[in-house]
Amino acid sequence: MSTKPTLEDIVSLCKRRGFVFQSSELYGGLNGVYDFGHLGVLMKNNLRSAWLKSLQAPDKTILLFEGALVGPQAVWQASGHIDNFHDPMVDCLNCKKRFRADDIDMEKGCPYCGKKEWTEVRQFNMMFKTHLGATVDHSTAAYLRPETAQSIFINFKNIMSSHRVKIPFGVAQIGKAFRNEITPKQFLFRMREFEQMEMEWFCTADTSNEYFKYWCEKRLSFYTAIGINPQKIRLRSHEKTELSHYSSQTSDVEYEYPFGWKELEGIADRGNFDLSQHSKYSGKDLSVHDEEKQTSYIPNVVETSVGADRLFLTCLFDAYTIDTLGQEERLVLKLHPSIAPIKAAFLPLVKKLNDPMHHIYTDILKCGYTIEFDDSGSIGKRYRRHDEIGTPFCFTYDFDSETDHRITVRNRDTLQQERISIDAIKNYIGDKLQKPAAL
Ligand code: ATP
Repeated sequence: MSTKPTLEDIVSLCKRRGFVFQSSELYGGLNGVYDFGHLGVLMKNNLRSAWLKSLQAPDKTILLFEGALVGPQAVWQASGHIDNFHDPMVDCLNCKKRFRADDIDMEKGCPYCGKKEWTEVRQFNMMFKTHLGATVDHSTAAYLRPETAQSIFINFKNIMSSHRVKIPFGVAQIGKAFRNEITPKQFLFRMREFEQMEMEWFCTADTSNEYFKYWCEKRLSFYTAIGINPQKIRLRSHEKTELSHYSSQTSDVEYEYPFGWKELEGIADRGNFDLSQHSKYSGKDLSVHDEEKQTSYIPNVVETSVGADRLFLTCLFDAYTIDTLGQEERLVLKLHPSIAPIKAAFLPLVKKLNDPMHHIYTDILKCGYTIEFDDSGSIGKRYRRHDEIGTPFCFTYDFDSETDHRITVRNRDTLQQERISIDAIKNYIGDKLQKPAAL
């Protein structure tokens, strides 16, 4: 049996087991900002590398990039963020609660107090502004980036000429983005400081439709490859009225959260809007030369963009399971082994057996797996902890191991236990865990 987790279940597990903490909790907390603990960092690293792996294909060039978090005003003027990156904001005059106007039905009244007394809807720019250096004026104004993509566009020529690549090729970036969301909510779903994993695919205008379809399919298959339930993932293409001003087509990968089907990733055909804008505003030519046709053109871009934290939350929702075993309930995170923070636990049955088990653990650690040695508490308690953090396999060393040189492996999901030779542990882990999710 399994029950669907609530957001509170996930938040509580994250705190209890050290995946994610509210940022600055000691001082009352910072809304929409979170810190990641040991297991959270391990799991996020796994998501980052699974994402990078998923972009690879023998016939596709994907270059890596890591841009600065802060950018001058001119960049955001050209990209349209200063003029367009607004959310509509409205306040209830009675209870003073603030909302994103497109998040609520204003006709129905305030979701908190029910009154229909509203302020005017105002446009609120979501970028964080700062000044570089001691002088505060127009020339020193800078913004924390609200998306990672622009740093790739403004480096397009640097990247292309230094790597001598030809169109088509992609540039992938993982990094922080900042949005002053009016109402950050749903934990890691809508944050003010978050991480994006974006890939910009530069191509000719006549191939962008074909590549848009290619990347939609490829991105969708990523989610099943990392173990997300395919019933809860879908691709939804945007209606014409939903499209951003620069986009000719956009599809969202959506997941069915407890709060409904919502965007997890956006895939957009951005045309040549970004490079054209930066060319126009910087006065620098960003076109490429087509030797065959003897013409110059500004490439089109197909973008795929997913939030690392939103994906992290999605994996937790998807994996969180309550199994009932007879009278007992057990909480287990059925994470795909490639995503699980700890791949295997090494448990001596009793403290007396620590030394031989630690010896085995040290030997396996040399192979580079993220594993844990755990001797604290009863074996039942240790199994429960590893179920809760999603460790796919627990190896237990008992008194028989001393003579038969075998060890018990417990499978997190099936609870089946088998005895294998101590010499076979490396191969066992290699076979079961090191296999990348069918990417
Ligand atoms: P939404 O409609 O949910 O606000 P968006 O359309 O503004 O998202 P994009 O600008 O397309 O989002 O950003 C790409 C991806 O970045 C999103 O699909 C999401 O995974 C992630 N993302 C965007 N905003 C946030 C946020 N405030 N907190 C966490 N992740 C975010």
